[in-house]
Amino acid sequence: MKNRQIQDKKISEEDLMEKVVALCKRRGFIFQGSEIYGGLANTWDYGPYGVELKNNIKTLWWKHFVHEREDMMGLDSSILMHPRVWEASGHIESFSDPLVDCRKCKERFRGDKIIEEHLGIKEAAGKSLKEISDIIKKHKLPCPNCGASDFTAAREFNLMFRTHQGVIEEESSIVYMRPETAQGIFVNFRNISAIMRKKIPFGVAQIGKAFRNEITPGNFIYRTREFEQMEIEYFIKPSDEWEKIFNQWEKSCKEWFERLGIKSDHIRTREHDKKELSHYSKKTIDIEYKFPFGWGELMGIAYRGDFDLKRHAEFSGQDLTYFDQEKNERFIPHVIEPSFGVDRTILTILIDAYSEDVIDGESRVVMKLHPSIAPVKAAIFPLIKKPELIKIGRDIFDELKSEFKVEYDESGSIGKRYRRQDEIGTPLCITIDFDTINDKSVTIRERNSAKQKRVQIDSIKEVLAENIYQPS
Ligand code: ATP
Repeated sequence: MKNRQIQDKKISEEDLMEKVVALCKRRGFIFQGSEIYGGLANTWDYGPYGVELKNNIKTLWWKHFVHEREDMMGLDSSILMHPRVWEASGHIESFSDPLVDCRKCKERFRGDKIIEEHLGIKEAAGKSLKEISDIIKKHKLPCPNCGASDFTAAREFNLMFRTHQGVIEEESSIVYMRPETAQGIFVNFRNISAIMRKKIPFGVAQIGKAFRNEITPGNFIYRTREFEQMEIEYFIKPSDEWEKIFNQWEKSCKEWFERLGIKSDHIRTREHDKKELSHYSKKTIDIEYKFPFGWGELMGIAYRGDFDLKRHAEFSGQDLTYFDQEKNERFIPHVIEPSFGVDRTILTILIDAYSEDVIDGESRVVMKLHPSIAPVKAAIFPLIKKPELIKIGRDIFDELKSEFKVEYDESGSIGKRYRRQDEIGTPLCITIDFDTINDKSVTIRERNSAKQKRVQIDSIKEVLAENIYQPS
């Protein structure tokens, strides 16, 4: 085994975001949406490595929260739902943000976010429109665009995207693009509990797109208008036990972030104070990550009581109670909701994994992605383009491809090929050289340490299986 001299480079918070965005473009993780038309603001497309990373995260999430538990099931519901769903959920009435206009430059902003930026989240949370207008005025808070302190009063702006179903654009054909995946779970509660014969407590998980007409999207994929969520509704008995179950969910969510390899000192929990809580919630926490632009919500867990099922029962006229056969009683289940954003998880992972170091005097960028989510698990290189080496390399690729996402690359210097794989976070590189022809072994290089060892061709699969925990 060959040891390398590695020195980590320090990267400032200001530079980090820019470097990650540049790497995402350079290495095919994330592109600007509609780029050849000048781009559509705040839309992002996941490129070849981005989609592999995203799929791995979603598969691992499903494994952690659905397959590895007996009390969880999955669902994939429609994006378009009956408009009454959004009346029942309260989204039509109150899914809005406080909008303020700068009178000078005419840009629009979220009033609460302006306050949060200057005075902190406590000062901004749970404030009425009047309070927001007053705080902005009192502190003469500046416009983030032009610096003037001349805003209109705050007013409600509903975040739901509206469209029409069918050929006639009239009031009765309005449908909404779902702003969260959760409601699909509530409206299927009766189907699932009747057909799947699960005893409470049980939960339903769903991964899918959601849409919010955000006033101020930004920070790359942190806040966008089209994004993906991974949500769970966990149905429990109405009892004092809720806090214990809530804490178990908090633990399980933290374990999930550990499983992704996210640095634990960059994660914290923030509990919503009374003013921030929805009227039906007894407890809500956000798990936050230390992004280069500050601490931001990565996911949230809310105890929602029986609000959702009660409202849907009322608005649909259907019975959404659960019958407990053991106790011979009927009740509306209460709900604990862990809600994750796929794109925010990806941004977190990219920021957390980005590093630069110097190996034996040579600088490199390396994405220290957890092997289970790395887009490519191993890259196979013939040292030089010679038919004997190419043949062995191709055979190894064919042997591995059905079990692992692997890449074969014969172009450019070996150093350049290593650098490229380091930048996309490939945990192992397998090199075939002239000795391979005689000793039937290859060199396997580990990404973070750049350590190399000789391994028999027959044992490659074993080495990969040991080092790479597969998401599927
Ligand atoms: P924020 O306060 O940051 O707007 P939120 O509290 O409105 O978020 P939730 O309604 O709790 O968010 O949604 C659950 C999760 O969905 C969030 O924790 C986040 O990961 C993700 N999410 C919400 N809005 C967006 C968005 N506009 N872009 C990307 N992800 C989002």
